Amino acid sequence: MKYKHLFGPVVSRRLGLSLGVDIVPYKYCSLNCVYCEVSRTTHLTIKRKAFYSTKDITRELDDFLSTNPALDYITFSGAGEPTLNSNLGDIIAYIKSRYPQYKLALITNSTLLSDPEVRREILACDLMLPSLDAVSDECFELINRPHDKLSAQDLIDGLVELRREYKGLIWLEIFIVPGINDHLEEIELLKTAIEQIKPDTVQINSLDRPGAEEWVEPAIYLALEEIKNILQEESNIPVEIIAKAHVEGLITKTEQDYISELTELIRQEEYTKEELARAMQIHVNEVSKLLQHLAVKDNVIAKRRQKGTFYLWKK
Ligand code: SF4
Repeated sequence: MKYKHLFGPVVSRRLGLSLGVDIVPYKYCSLNCVYCEVSRTTHLTIKRKAFYSTKDITRELDDFLSTNPALDYITFSGAGEPTLNSNLGDIIAYIKSRYPQYKLALITNSTLLSDPEVRREILACDLMLPSLDAVSDECFELINRPHDKLSAQDLIDGLVELRREYKGLIWLEIFIVPGINDHLEEIELLKTAIEQIKPDTVQINSLDRPGAEEWVEPAIYLALEEIKNILQEESNIPVEIIAKAHVEGLITKTEQDYISELTELIRQEEYTKEELARAMQIHVNEVSKLLQHLAVKDNVIAKRRQKGTFYLWKK
């Protein structure tokens, strides 16, 4: 069966072996983060919609899970904000009733958590991975470029309410963009917000792959350690750095392997992103990121043809 909503399972730093479930169309999001590793948001919205029939999604899950695969998590994530799907609660309830042996995780940008209905729908998840990158409106605007009806305070209020109502694990992610939210004033504001939210863990992240905007750079590891120390001081909430130590020009072995594999393919003939995703058995978003990486080095050409956009190696 060809999957439209499932990807992986992928091995991730935080979740182990995780099956991704993508339930919103490409780049429907309430934020347009400068560091987004998918791309710029094309549909900036806070309006929830069904987007797809629940049956289409559960049919794929039934097919994949019928062999009882070993997984650490089934994770709602993908190329947009999962809580924008108004059928999220039904999909969660379906998985929990049919496949109670699997743990469910939700990666969210926190923007819709101030809506009690959204919080009610997601309570059955085992793990929440919400984000909060800024507290001041200035930093929030600069990093997250939100829908105009959103403020950073909405995210904090929603997270505080979620903690009150939800008994599972909350791992709060803070993405550091050097030059914007890495100064002491903002870190102190984040520290105060963390004390109100009371997550189980705070995870500090930074750029690993090319972001939506070219000027975004990875934070230096020492700076992340400094931030960790400030957040940790006189706090009993654990803080960890999940960003990779970044050395100029160094790519992780796994990512380098994928790049070599993709290079090998497009050196021989031209492919669409979808064909590459199938050949390499990865999600099409991952192919986009790898192509972006090669494009930065000017190694790849995109050609528009009647049947779509094809990619080939630049001779
Ligand atoms: S990083 Fe997440 S929240 Fe930010 S624009 Fe990308 S998909 Fe949306």
